[in-house]
Amino acid sequence: MNFNMNIPGLKDCQVIKVEERKGEILLYVEMERKPHLCPNCGQLIDKVHDYRWQKVQHLKWFERMTYIWYKRRRYACACGKRFSEKNPFVKRYQRTSIEWNQAVSVCAIKGKTFKEVGDVYGTSSTTIMRRFDQIAQTEIKQVESLPRVIAIDEYKGDTREGKYQLIIADGITKQPLDILPNRNKKTIKDYLQRHGHHVQVVIMDMSPSFKAAVRSALGNPVIVADRFHFCRYIYWGINRVRRRIQQQFHDYDRKKCKRKRYIFYKPQNTLTEND
Ligand SMILES: [Zn+2]
Repeated sequence: MNFNMNIPGLKDCQVIKVEERKGEILLYVEMERKPHLCPNCGQLIDKVHDYRWQKVQHLKWFERMTYIWYKRRRYACACGKRFSEKNPFVKRYQRTSIEWNQAVSVCAIKGKTFKEVGDVYGTSSTTIMRRFDQIAQTEIKQVESLPRVIAIDEYKGDTREGKYQLIIADGITKQPLDILPNRNKKTIKDYLQRHGHHVQVVIMDMSPSFKAAVRSALGNPVIVADRFHFCRYIYWGINRVRRRIQQQFHDYDRKKCKRKRYIFYKPQNTLTEND
């Protein structure tokens, strides 16, 4: 079978054969033979040196793992240089196609988890993580000096360094600035000592260990408990009181009260007569 169907990502390629084997799709592909410029001396060359088969992982086709078996042609110049032909789908020394790389890069950022993306693209979560790190490296600028107002908070990132990471943001613009690999007191302290000379206000949750770390690194900045964490403490407090009082209720009243607990969270001016 020899067809020149335009398969996305394989434009201008000749698909020699399509095979389905053990649930995988194999696309046998070659490029049209045409004169190439020698990268060494610039002459136009048409003399074929040899062919090498190269297996390239590609995007899934019809939900099946798909590989391109590329019959890579090499040309030989009179100057002695041997070189591979140009092709639009795989870069030198790569085992995955250009389209696969692009799709994986997008999903490494936008996907839910590294594992899930790995499953979809037929690779390991470590490969996806490595992709993510490569992209992140080019995206994240090194923080030299933190702004006057910063906000710090922990979040569950589940990285190789541990379950929790620490995010540092500009407290005014709300732009994320940096991510610390863990939430250890020493990590925070060292980081703030290095970059925090201009910091005057720190917005954060109410954990005493954070507070201690911030104090020992920055002296005496204004510490602001952020609204989210502050309110959370109040909700927790209300809940404890509600539960304690409800204990003395009859079963029926207790359940009813539990179901209506949202009333306690409503602002006073939105309460109805019924509430
Ligand atoms: Zn040459």
